[in-house]
Amino acid sequence: MVTHKETRDTESRIKCYVISVFLLRTLRLTSYHQEKKVGPLSSEEIFLGRILLHMFMVQDMNSHPIFGLESNPHSVQIGLETIGSAIYPIVGSYFNHSCSPNTLRVNVGRTQMLISSSRISSGDEITDIYSMHFSEILREKRQWWLNRNFNFVCKCEGCEKNWEIFENLPTKVSDQLRSKLQMVETAIAQAIRSDDFKLTLQLHLRQLGLLEGLEKPHTLHVLIRNSFQFACWRYYGKMAENRIILS
Ligand SMILES: [Zn+2]
Repeated sequence: MVTHKETRDTESRIKCYVISVFLLRTLRLTSYHQEKKVGPLSSEEIFLGRILLHMFMVQDMNSHPIFGLESNPHSVQIGLETIGSAIYPIVGSYFNHSCSPNTLRVNVGRTQMLISSSRISSGDEITDIYSMHFSEILREKRQWWLNRNFNFVCKCEGCEKNWEIFENLPTKVSDQLRSKLQMVETAIAQAIRSDDFKLTLQLHLRQLGLLEGLEKPHTLHVLIRNSFQFACWRYYGKMAENRIILS
């Protein structure tokens, strides 16, 4: 996996070197070495330090955050909290970032799932998001952050067309579409109250289908994607909970 060792800026390199040396020195305080080490680093420690440096740079560029549900999954409002990070080689190796991705991620135990959040036709690129959805932050700041942390200039559709952040997105929809969406929304609220997480998920898929003719960007694409994401978390969270009960 990539480390971008050669193209990192000075600050990033120094950070990696300092942390690697810190870890190397910390090993002296543990039982890792059979003999107590003192004085300058030995050739064995320098070799180990190179491995630590490489591994740190790999995780620095390729790790994904792991989220957990932070509140009652039966509540209409749920939140996600970061509980750690891990490297998932398949997702990390095969899927590029987009500020307007066509997937979302859900963690269940040690498994990470990449779930399509809109129709992906044959030939379309399947995209992940490293951080910062286009609707949350201006393009200049997103691109600066992505370039600094992941060493690339984003050329996703949202960046190329300089899509607005959420507050400035179009909100207008036809009466016909609004009416259809409201009917599904009512059914979703009922399904959530009934703890029917599978139906909730299916209804969200219906909502996403209704949006297919609506030009992007639009507030509804953002809102319903977020709502679908929480529906996925509810559904898979419930499945995981049931597995625990069964075991
Ligand atoms: Zn972008």
